[in-house]
Amino acid sequence: MTSVFDGHNDALTSKTHARLAAGREDGDLDLPRMRAGGMRGGIFAVFTSSPGEDTHTMVFGSVNDAPGGVLSEPLAGPVSFEAAASHALTVAGRLFALERAGELTVARGIADVDAALAEDAGPVAVLHLEGAEAIDPGLESLPAWYAMGLRSLGPVWSRANDFATGVQFVMPSSPDIGPGLTDAGVALVKACAELGILVDLSHLNEKGFWDVAKLEPGPLVASHSGAHAVAAASRNLTDAQLDAIGASGGLVGIVYATAFIRQDFADDPDTPLATIAAHARYVADRIGARHVGLGSDFDGATLPASLEGVAGLPKLLDALAEAGFTAPEIEAIAWSNWRRVLDAWWH
Ligand code: ZN
Repeated sequence: MTSVFDGHNDALTSKTHARLAAGREDGDLDLPRMRAGGMRGGIFAVFTSSPGEDTHTMVFGSVNDAPGGVLSEPLAGPVSFEAAASHALTVAGRLFALERAGELTVARGIADVDAALAEDAGPVAVLHLEGAEAIDPGLESLPAWYAMGLRSLGPVWSRANDFATGVQFVMPSSPDIGPGLTDAGVALVKACAELGILVDLSHLNEKGFWDVAKLEPGPLVASHSGAHAVAAASRNLTDAQLDAIGASGGLVGIVYATAFIRQDFADDPDTPLATIAAHARYVADRIGARHVGLGSDFDGATLPASLEGVAGLPKLLDALAEAGFTAPEIEAIAWSNWRRVLDAWWH
């Protein structure tokens, strides 16, 4: 079975995280189903909801019913440092509890990622902050998070904070909505590059993307996004962004969220796996298969039902083969492309 490293899941944030080790009926991801699907590694997000919203799982209406045929979700409200810091610590604790129980390894370096490929090894998890609200704007708490095991960080979810502005969910729309990085955001990206924390560009608006690119902090990585030329959602990457990612040696983790990958933006589980593969194909044709990875968004969005969560990953790999990817390309998309960019950031 092909080993898979997945670039983004929200399983820790879900209410049923306590059953991640034992398995559960609901949701997309748990450890038994990871084993069944060949997912030996992944980036595990820590996310804090905006006040008044108790879930990260977005549900989108129909573009057909939206005024002017444009579906525009209002930007989510801000989260305070105090609220995010306490919540994020709690959610991160769930991951370390799994490590203490011997269920997985939290990656501190690339050797931990490599070790997960051994025959009888458990999976490896990369601790990720999706939105940096849990970090104070002066960055005094960042080294503590690094010491804890933080190895990946998205400056923003789709809302504004002290560091940057996340891209508003609008379909169809350019991702060029709102201002770029703040001074604190520039300092955050530089500090992450120095410590060895991957900076994730998914959810960042286009100005912010270019502000990060200008700093040349490492290979440009969008952990869970699609190609704007295939589906013109604001969350997807334009051709110019893809070209910059390719030139930097970076990677796009192709997202499976149906509202972003379908051309009609329908938030509909009845979406074929070929739709995911079409984004991978487009990115590979434009910048090369070595810049394609997987970035499911398990437990964070409506995904194609035929995937049946993480256990169905082999079916997705079959869809990649049907889209013309060779066996070595599929192996690279599934694992070694992610390994390459993690290794570069973690130096
Ligand atoms: Zn996300």
